[in-house]
Amino acid sequence: MGDLMKGKRGLVMGVANHNSIAWGAAKALAGQGAEIALTYQGEAFGKRVKPLAAEIGSTLLVDCDVEDIASVDRVFETLAAEWGKIDFVIHAIAFSDKNELKGLYADTTRENFTRTMLISCFSFTEIAKRAAAIMNNGGSLVTLTYGGATRVMPNYNVMGVAKAALEASVRYLAADFGPRDIRVNAVSAGPLRTLAGAGVSDARLMLNYQRRNAPMRRNVTHEEVGGSTLYLLSDLSKGVTGEIHYVDAGYNIMSMPALDELKA
Ligand code: NAD
Repeated sequence: MGDLMKGKRGLVMGVANHNSIAWGAAKALAGQGAEIALTYQGEAFGKRVKPLAAEIGSTLLVDCDVEDIASVDRVFETLAAEWGKIDFVIHAIAFSDKNELKGLYADTTRENFTRTMLISCFSFTEIAKRAAAIMNNGGSLVTLTYGGATRVMPNYNVMGVAKAALEASVRYLAADFGPRDIRVNAVSAGPLRTLAGAGVSDARLMLNYQRRNAPMRRNVTHEEVGGSTLYLLSDLSKGVTGEIHYVDAGYNIMSMPALDELKA
């Protein structure tokens, strides 16, 4: 256990179970002395999140569904009442109808497009605004994105469009809050086996393809994504804002499959 985050308090949103990216990040933060509040989406997830919270000594848990703005407000009212100020936020929240995470992007419905954008993109802006209002100078926010924001990934469809908008939001929010010494960044994680990840059709094929073709010839781990998130939330990255930080074993730099793969 280190003390990189000693004296810092913050909110982690998006833990559904022990495979969640947010959980890997929460463990990395707690391991460096951070005090953590968690949100969970409804009582069914709450049952799984409560024992995890206990593992990291987190006693502040709040039910939050970002489709219900009153529940988002309650989260920040609770934090203000319990802690006064906060130092960091992780937003690891995304949703789209899995029936539209396959086939053609062109077939996305208006209803699912709107819902996907609200939950997976605009919620970060609503959360960042509320968080910044109670943040100490030097505060930091991180959201989670994926390479499908900038390049076409089969079946990722509307989620790729939402992630592109989320990445643009990171830059605008970084400009908004920079003068107040509050930083906003995104971690673009390589594919990991999670509940949300499983919603994308043929996710297993994508995971294997990236493992064979990334420069490091492997997938990334929850610990690695957690470690980079910790860096962006800690004072080690004090001069970094508005960045999309890839944690993908280098996959994003390649313009074609690995030669050993092509020759196999
Ligand atoms: P996960 O299923 O463990 O986490 C997704 C979380 O979103 C869950 O905790 C869920 O409760 C929450 N959520 C969904 N709708 C919500 C709503 N209306 N209100 C509040 N919370 C809601 O899966 P994950 O893969 O850990 O996803 C976390 C983030 O990481 C997502 O933004 C995802 O797009 C991103 N990401 C995932 C991968 C991957 O391969 N798994 C790769 C890159 C980025």
